[in-house]
Amino acid sequence: MKALVFHGPGRKAWEQVPDPVIIDNTDAIVRIDATTICGTDLHILKGDVPAVTDGRVLGHEGVGTVTQVGAGVRRVKVGDRVLVSCISSCGTCRYCREGHAGQCLGGGGWILGHKIDGTQAEQVRVPFADLSTYPIPDGVSDEQVLMLADIFPTAYEVGVLNGQVKPGDVVAIVGTGPIGLAAIAGAKLFNPATIVAIDIADSRLEAARSFGADVTINSSREDPLAIVRSLTEGLGADVAMEAVGIPSTFELCAALIRPGGHVANMGVHGVPATLHLEDLWIRNATITTGLVDAYSTETLLKLIGHGHLDVTPMVTHRFALDDIMNAYDVFSNAADTGALKVVLTA
Ligand SMILES: [Zn+2]
Ligand SMILES: [Zn+2]
Repeated sequence: MKALVFHGPGRKAWEQVPDPVIIDNTDAIVRIDATTICGTDLHILKGDVPAVTDGRVLGHEGVGTVTQVGAGVRRVKVGDRVLVSCISSCGTCRYCREGHAGQCLGGGGWILGHKIDGTQAEQVRVPFADLSTYPIPDGVSDEQVLMLADIFPTAYEVGVLNGQVKPGDVVAIVGTGPIGLAAIAGAKLFNPATIVAIDIADSRLEAARSFGADVTINSSREDPLAIVRSLTEGLGADVAMEAVGIPSTFELCAALIRPGGHVANMGVHGVPATLHLEDLWIRNATITTGLVDAYSTETLLKLIGHGHLDVTPMVTHRFALDDIMNAYDVFSNAADTGALKVVLTA
């Protein structure tokens, strides 16, 4: 089969590799019908994720059709259309039993396109197939479901639920790339009073408005702190979600919340950020971090199936799977191309 193979920092190729085979009896082989590229894949290509070694097939998001199952697979059958989640779950370790498969101790967690070959390929081996794939309801498109492989559960669990968004809240979202936009859509499920989107790119703020942001702030020329305080009688936001992953945006989130407010960090940070405990200690602040566990995937599938959530406006570019090298160029030059999510279909 063909697959997108990592060959060390800055090097990748769409090339011939052996077909995946069943290794453990709980594995399934899935023929990929649609996949996408994540910001994390760009981090890998920069060399930021040393666990990914030369020869690894990238990709941790996919929708496909099951072509083989191991003898121990009970729920998933050949021919099933399934979502392949970025998080695999052994189902038996302490974290999986508590619903936190992102921290799986039994060989799951984020393994696809990281520790084992991933989904940017014609086929993929999915370990713990019964617990790591989701059947797709009839009438739901591959493209809609694909956004549930990573970004939507991430934004919903790590942003909206960890941030404890409630009806009537003022919610500030710093960074309106795909994760920030997904957080806006997720926050809207809880009827907040006002969603404030903050970014430095006008095109992304426009996207934020189309996803339901009430107020947009371009922090390269406006003062987000002053504007959020003016909207909240001087108090600050109930919830601030960080969706960039750099020190200044984290520190902005900590400054934006009211006493008793929540900062929910979603960004992937590579360098230390300052925690201003000298200001925060007296403010009853709650700060959460997290990797997605994907425990919300079934809920989000139901919301999509019933028309309460539409995540497809995030898809800005579409390619054939074997045009993935071009798709990487477009996705990695988002400032010029306006790319949010790119979808590759077989
Ligand atoms: Zn990802
Ligand atoms: Zn586990």
